Amino acid sequence: MSYTDLNPEILNQFASYDDHEHVRRFTLDDGQGNSLVGFIAVHNTNLGPALGGCRMLPYASEAEAINDVLRLSRGMTYKNALAGLPLGGGKAVIIGDHRTQKTADLMQAMGMAVETFEGSYITAEDSGTAEEDMVEIAKYTDHVTGLPPEMLEGNEYGELGGNPSPLTALGCYHGIKSAVAYRYKGDKTVADMTVSVQGVGAVGLELAKLLKQDGAKLIITDISEEGLKQAQQELGDVQIVKPDEIFSVEADIFAPCAMGGILNDETIAQLKVDIIAGAANNQLLSAHHDNMLMDKNILYVPDYVINSGGVICVGYEYFRKSDYNPQDFDIERGVMVAHVERVGQTVGDILRIAQERGLPPGETADKLAEEKFLQGAALEDMNDNDSSSEGHSSFGSVAGTRLVQ
Ligand code: NAD
Repeated sequence: MSYTDLNPEILNQFASYDDHEHVRRFTLDDGQGNSLVGFIAVHNTNLGPALGGCRMLPYASEAEAINDVLRLSRGMTYKNALAGLPLGGGKAVIIGDHRTQKTADLMQAMGMAVETFEGSYITAEDSGTAEEDMVEIAKYTDHVTGLPPEMLEGNEYGELGGNPSPLTALGCYHGIKSAVAYRYKGDKTVADMTVSVQGVGAVGLELAKLLKQDGAKLIITDISEEGLKQAQQELGDVQIVKPDEIFSVEADIFAPCAMGGILNDETIAQLKVDIIAGAANNQLLSAHHDNMLMDKNILYVPDYVINSGGVICVGYEYFRKSDYNPQDFDIERGVMVAHVERVGQTVGDILRIAQERGLPPGETADKLAEEKFLQGAALEDMNDNDSSSEGHSSFGSVAGTRLVQ
């Protein structure tokens, strides 16, 4: 493993560059005579060490990988800030096909790469990496989370490890409850809702189960026949539609739980829902779609806020294993679950403040996150009169065009 730091002159050429604190390029040996290139970006550590996953994808070029790591690490700063975690934002990417090019040695080299940050970057799994890869990384650094529960000593400790998807679903469920209460002013509950769910994978199926338990009617879709079969077995009475029909079905809530970019000119024109609230990352294709939804009177719940249950889960695991716990959270499962449930409160606050400020919710979330990590403001202190904050934001004036995705 070897590395070089990328300097601001180089980084300034990238659209996603936002005065990141550190960006490093790594050469990672796979143990079979090949070297792969990886990057780690630490965007901002004002709130604490930068937590964000390690992605392995066959990027077409180093430039594409750099743009992605810059964009994703910045996004983690915003997500962690609004999740109420004492953590900053960072991310790692490896250029390669995880199915054919990932080896244990490669992941160990990534562990050495993470260790070069001496704790200011903490890694975890992401697209193309999994729990077993974190085990290899953990051989060379302690700054890794998302480890299998059996690796964590003692039962109590083990309760904090493992798959974060059910916690992501739980946070989404509480976010949806808040959005319903906000939109219908307390006159309706989840039991009155028809929810269309795009993607019944790890998060979508768990979310659908929670909504069904509360009496919601469900319309689901997935590109996987097997996934749909399993969902139908577990959910019972649900309506199934084809993947391209999910945007135009009559429903109250649309819950995207599959992939990014699905809120765009074409799909927004078809939507017949009051609320969009789901787990998928990067739902808005571009920043103006936030405004477009507001103009259509569709309440959009910012994706990185409602899907933060997973990062809260791996964050707590790290607090336990590292003894880094500046806010003295009680590190036990019940407290972590209660933290995830507070995603609902955060969603309610953002929707209220968005209305007070006359801004779309996505842009509002970005501004509130900036107020937290740039100025240390608490979400509960933020209100319409807090105009002083906007002038201090390093890019508050362009937030509408640089929406975090
Ligand atoms: P997953 O792969 O388990 O599930 C995704 C599902 O979507 C799969 O069943 C897949 O077949 C389906 N799908 C893919 N393309 C589709 C399409 N065009 N139409 C309908 N269905 C389609 O992934 P997941 O872990 O459930 O994550 C879902 C989304 O939530 C992703 O965007 C992910 O980045 C985001 N997210 C997940 C977590 C987590 O804890 N897993 C945390 C934060 C955000």
